[in-house]
Amino acid sequence: MPALLACFEAECRATYPITEVIYSCPRCGGLLEVVYPDLALDAAELKRTWRQRRMDNRPLEQSGVWRYRELIGFLDDYRQVVSLREGNTPLLDAPRAAGYGGLRRLTFKHQGFNPTGSFKDNGMTCGVAQARRLGMRRVACVSTGNTSASMTAYAAAAGLQPVIFIPHGNISYGKLAQALEYGAQTLQVEANFDQILALVRQLADRLGIYLLNSINPFRIEGQKSIIIEMMDQRDWAPPDWIALPGGNLGNTSAFGKALRELRVQGFIDRMPRLAVIQAEGAAPFYDFMRHPRPGAFQPVTAPDTLATAIRIGDPVSWPKAWREVADSGGLVEKVTEREIADAKAQIGLCGIGCEPASAATLAGIRKLTAAGVIKRDDDVVAVLTGNLLKDPDYVYRYHTGQLATAAGVRIEGKYQNCPIVAPNDPDRIAALLGNT
Ligand SMILES: *Cc1c(COP(=O)(O)O)cnc(C)c1O
Ligand SMILES: [Zn+2]
Repeated sequence: MPALLACFEAECRATYPITEVIYSCPRCGGLLEVVYPDLALDAAELKRTWRQRRMDNRPLEQSGVWRYRELIGFLDDYRQVVSLREGNTPLLDAPRAAGYGGLRRLTFKHQGFNPTGSFKDNGMTCGVAQARRLGMRRVACVSTGNTSASMTAYAAAAGLQPVIFIPHGNISYGKLAQALEYGAQTLQVEANFDQILALVRQLADRLGIYLLNSINPFRIEGQKSIIIEMMDQRDWAPPDWIALPGGNLGNTSAFGKALRELRVQGFIDRMPRLAVIQAEGAAPFYDFMRHPRPGAFQPVTAPDTLATAIRIGDPVSWPKAWREVADSGGLVEKVTEREIADAKAQIGLCGIGCEPASAATLAGIRKLTAAGVIKRDDDVVAVLTGNLLKDPDYVYRYHTGQLATAAGVRIEGKYQNCPIVAPNDPDRIAALLGNT
């Protein structure tokens, strides 16, 4: 049996053909996942094959997603694939950030090196391939920014019409600029993310548009490659912890699914623990995981954080994320705006840089090592989800002491680096630089 869509709910587990255009279970409304009932891979052989493919110049092998297609095997014809050479993102050692995080050693897996500057590309190449396979002409998403940028790029490259819905006034210009440039029909709706998502789910069926939000299970399949590639880069040695920011929790779901499948197929012999970090003003999953029970999930009605990529009050993938965090022996932490901002500046001082949501990882690690949950000698990988230049406005405000929350609370950064206005005078400039 090839790939199927399966309901994620344990009491239902209904299955559907992989080509059915559904975003949730028609029987019970549960989330859907892609399953491979007969998958039995030769791990040792594939580890060699995947290495060899890195030296192969064909687009499919040069993609850091499709190179691992045996674990993402939902397509029957790879001519549907459009690749912008997504994935292939580096593991970077960051001694300074390690010290800040209370660790002896810390590695960043930097997804900001992707073609549109965020991990959304890993998933989008899969989502768009599925849209083409289904014969769709238009694709749409609701997004705080990076999903729009990514979907638009892949749709444009594939010759599909992209339509994006964004919360009015709440998007960083770096991300909006990308979507406009790649040719998205752009609707700024006067509602918050969660409200717009409900609206678009109605419209998709009515207008025959294929939805590429994070509930789309094919995007989750692609995002698994972040973990597969990371393990390949580490010669299949699992770290103790993988830290990542949590917004809609699609990535948390994808990471957990990847780890489970790698383990079942014999690629790794133990599970790293997932540490999901949320922003304090948008932390419904943190609240839930303190006493997790079915039916106890409470959305946050007015999510508030300057880390716009994780400003999500009602994360769609929480049931999957619950299972994955629990299965990995992981946990959820939350951090303040100030903690995110300062951690981000520390990552910048490593010569690395990232967008605000990504820096929640280091802020969370610092908190968890201080509490003795993560140990100083633990082997930790933090996933930086997006590129520094996504949100230059935030960076400028931080370094010039002008960063403030939507409610007007000033965030006084510890590591400000304000430009100095200098006169056109070599002596005075030499004095300013401390060389008189
Ligand atoms: C989308 C995104 C997130 C949140 O990921 P989820 O899968 O929604 O939890 C975090 N950081 C960046 C940069 C993102 O683009
Ligand atoms: Zn169901």
